[in-house]
Amino acid sequence: MSDFVIAPSPVAALPVQGGGRFPVRRVYCIGRNYAAHAVEMGHDPNREPPFFFQKNPDNLDPSGSFPYPGQSADVHHEVELAVALGQGGADIPLESALAHVWGYAVALDMTRRDVQDEAKRLKRPWDTSKAFEHSAPIGPLVPAAGFDPSKGAISLAVNDEVRQSGDLDQMIWKVPEMIAYLSTWFTLAPGDVILSGTPAGVGPVVRGDRMAARIAGLPPLDVRVV
Ligand code: MN
Repeated sequence: MSDFVIAPSPVAALPVQGGGRFPVRRVYCIGRNYAAHAVEMGHDPNREPPFFFQKNPDNLDPSGSFPYPGQSADVHHEVELAVALGQGGADIPLESALAHVWGYAVALDMTRRDVQDEAKRLKRPWDTSKAFEHSAPIGPLVPAAGFDPSKGAISLAVNDEVRQSGDLDQMIWKVPEMIAYLSTWFTLAPGDVILSGTPAGVGPVVRGDRMAARIAGLPPLDVRVV
């Protein structure tokens, strides 16, 4: 018998290609991790220390539908490589960081850009622009052994028009560096998911749009804006 005084929420979980589910603990996201995207957002692309924000575990949504959120008239797509950790730790050495990865997936960091712009202007946090319901559509996870996160085409098309097109090798902070650095700020744990930033070309979607997110070597992610 549980001694919880209310029913606990279900564990957020991601489908794994070939079967099974990956239970999610936390979701970390890196900002401005592709130089061309940093430039398009008005920032210096030089290698400053990375910064992170968080989404909620239950914002991850494998359903293939993205309900357009309220409180915004400018919601942008950001296609990103998702990195799912099977092992955690604090102060993880760079050399062993990749061994902490359980698997990879294609994800979207959907963003209320108008709300984020206002937050930046007022020096307020990003939660309402980033960590809202259904804000992280995600495809099936693939075990790490079958995928090299250091290179490979990453793209996003809206209604068959390519909007974002880049390569994982354009990341300013590579996947092992992100894990090692993040673990100096947070104690990472199995179930943590890291969204690794987006290439240039972010832009708005409207209801009815079809988003096709692709990373070479990973299952495709197709999402309808509803
Ligand atoms: Mn992002």
